[in-house]
Formats: sequence, C-alpha cells, structure tokens
Amino acid sequence: MLDCEGRRNVSQPLIVFSPIVNHRLNDSAFVESPNQSARPDGVEIDLLVIHNISLPPGKFGTSCIAELFCNTLDCSSHPYFEQLRELKVSAHVLIARNGMITQFVPFDRKAWHAGQSCFQGRKNCNEFSIGIELEGTDFEAFDDRQYEALSALTGRLMQAYHGLTVERIVGHSDIAPGRKTDPGPYFNWERFRESLSDYSESADSAK
Ligand SMILES: [Zn+2]
Repeated sequence: MLDCEGRRNVSQPLIVFSPIVNHRLNDSAFVESPNQSARPDGVEIDLLVIHNISLPPGKFGTSCIAELFCNTLDCSSHPYFEQLRELKVSAHVLIARNGMITQFVPFDRKAWHAGQSCFQGRKNCNEFSIGIELEGTDFEAFDDRQYEALSALTGRLMQAYHGLTVERIVGHSDIAPGRKTDPGPYFNWERFRESLSDYSESADSAK
C-alpha cells in the first residue's frame, strides 16, 4: 500500500513535509479537472513527468491553462486556441511562474498529460505516472520560484509514493520523443536533480 502520510518505515527523512492527504496537497489550491480516469488496478505510481505549458504560447499569468484543463477555455478567444477545441487534457499539478501550485487531479487518479508515450518499454505512461506542468516555454528560463516549488513538491511526492525515485523523473520529451519537446532546453535538470539530493540521501538511509 502507498503510505500517503509522508512517513517512511525505517527512519525519518532529513526533511519532513506536510503530508499528502487523500492524494491531495492540503496546502494548495485544488481545481478538479474532469479530464481524469481511474488507474488500472494494482498499478504503482513510479514515474514523474515534467512538462511545460503556456497559453497563449509565451504568455504567462493567464487563467487559460486552468480553463483548458477544466474544459472551460473559450476557444474562440484566441486564434491558437482553435486547435485545442477537441482536446481533453489535464495534469496533476501546475506550477505557475511565481511558484504557486494548483492541483487538478488527485494523485491516485490518472491525469491525461502524456498522451502516446513509452518509458523503458512500458506504454501509456499516464497509467503509472504523475504529471507536473511548469508554466513556461521551450525558449526561456524557468523562474527560481518554480524550481523551489518543484523541488519541495517532488520531495513530498517521493515521501508519499515510494515508487518515485530520483532516477524515475523524466521530461515529456523523454517518453514521447519526436512528438514532444517539453520541458525543453531551458529546464535545468542538473539544478533540479541537485536540489533533490537531500531527499534521495534520506531515501537511501531509509532502505
Ligand atoms: Zn508535455
């Protein structure tokens, strides 16, 4: 069973985050997306997928991403949105430029973020992954506050879902090569992985 109260069995981690209760972050906005479904029975969450998104492309701070995930986006309000008309997508979490986190799908449910995808021979990564969207583009750096929020969130998720490890974090482009490019060349993987070293050390010591 998943331990969703943030505890480890053997020893306490170096950093203790506020727990994830009922597969929800209890200290962030929760705006439920209808674009979700059940995970297959018995599937462990063991992959974290990092994305970027901005709507309209390159514009930050709009409500359009949340509206897209909730099927309430007015697709006639911008020429780019026409191609989104039939799209039914979501992610578990969006991290805005200012680091604010909004959750759209409980973590035990399947969010529709990765589409056709494959990780180490396993297809349909939505079934076993958690999807995090960073508000951003392939063409510019992410905000420091996003790295801080992403790092802390990843730490919390690894404490709650033990199948998630530092080695099992990928970009959308890694699992859908040729089709997807996000989180893009400006996402600093080295910085992100380095920021997780405290958590992985505590995870190691708990084994
Ligand atoms: Zn993506």
